[in-house]
Amino acid sequence: MPNIETLCVQAGYTPGNGEPRQIPIIQSTTFKYNTSEDMGKLFDLEASGYFYTRLQNPTNDMVAAKICAMEGGAAAMLTSSGQAANFFAVFNIATSGDHVVASSAIYGGTYNLFAVTMRKMGVEFTFLSPDCTPEELDAAFRPNTKAVFGETIANPALTVLDIEKFADAAHRHGVPLIIDNTFATPVNCRPIEWGADIVTHSTTKYMDGHGAAVGGCIVDSGKFNWMADPEKFPGLTTPDDSYHGIVYAEKFGLAGAFITKATAQLMRDFGSIQSPQNAFLLNLGLESLHVRMKRHCENAQAVAEFLASNENVSWVRYCGLPGDKYYSLAQKYLPNGSCGVVSFGVKGGRKAAEAVMKKLKLIAIETHVADARSCCLHPASATHRQMNDEELAAAGISPDLIRLSVGLESAEDLIADLAQALA
Ligand SMILES: *Cc1c(COP(=O)(O)O)cnc(C)c1O
Repeated sequence: MPNIETLCVQAGYTPGNGEPRQIPIIQSTTFKYNTSEDMGKLFDLEASGYFYTRLQNPTNDMVAAKICAMEGGAAAMLTSSGQAANFFAVFNIATSGDHVVASSAIYGGTYNLFAVTMRKMGVEFTFLSPDCTPEELDAAFRPNTKAVFGETIANPALTVLDIEKFADAAHRHGVPLIIDNTFATPVNCRPIEWGADIVTHSTTKYMDGHGAAVGGCIVDSGKFNWMADPEKFPGLTTPDDSYHGIVYAEKFGLAGAFITKATAQLMRDFGSIQSPQNAFLLNLGLESLHVRMKRHCENAQAVAEFLASNENVSWVRYCGLPGDKYYSLAQKYLPNGSCGVVSFGVKGGRKAAEAVMKKLKLIAIETHVADARSCCLHPASATHRQMNDEELAAAGISPDLIRLSVGLESAEDLIADLAQALA
């Protein structure tokens, strides 16, 4: 297996003799066939091929194959957004009447998707601190639990998940672990190597890396055995009436069942496909991901050290700081660096935080994180404003928290900007 740097640049597409060096953008809704039989085979999932871009597109599949190789997975698909990726990953196995165990330190949009929208669809969630004990984890499972969910590095709480602890608990109870690996990216952590079964991404963040295209991805390790307890996962182990009685786990095996079902059922019915144009832009981002992640981490480390020494800063969270609560977990799971996001509190609380943000010149106020340009956000008044103080605390967010996404500018210039604003 080539190293991650080589996979970033070359995986997913190998041009033949005289073919384009860059992946082609197949900007076509539909695909032409010579006979109805040819097309019928595609509809029956008897042959692989393309018929309509609402379900699948060749450009998307080349880029998904690259991310699949980077994560060490067996199969992958792109989605229109990170939200769609997490929804599909969970809904592919947990439907009305089912239950999911999730870390409470997750992205605000994902929390809302789980706690509000999927709850309306009949899926119940139990949220647990990422720092919980194995016994507390065990106690959260129910007979109808279908999956466990967490984020490698939580956005914006910046907690580091003990992936092995969550994977062991999931497997003790016969269900897969789904890990949202958006902030770490496979350059810094490959959750499948630590026991995760399914990995999701908001490719909108570091993978695209330039704030250009919203997108998502799901990677299946192909390791989870749906047939070990077939009654738990009827969607994969019993005939799909909407696909001529296909049993996904039988027909496509461990490596293909999860992604084929998510494509054939969920993408067909919800149509949350990434546009091929966005997939092309995502691929450009992936080519330099390993170079950019290194620089994001170096800059963030320098900024975090500056903030930690500033008299107007009350606390800093960055798992690369030796005093950080998650330093030792980061040393284990993220030995080459974590991400470019640092959070901190300003003396004087919520008001002072807002005042500092107004004074910043290079660092813009944006909802976004994880791209080339540095930006910051006050989650309590923006992304997490749906939450009450108790829920905020459970998600690891205090009212004075500023989330700073350190970009690829000169660290010296960023520190100077922060220094003048804090002064
Ligand atoms: C942004 C984000 C999402 C949602 O992704 P979108 O592409 O904005 O839909 C999910 N998980 C994490 C960790 C994120 O940072």
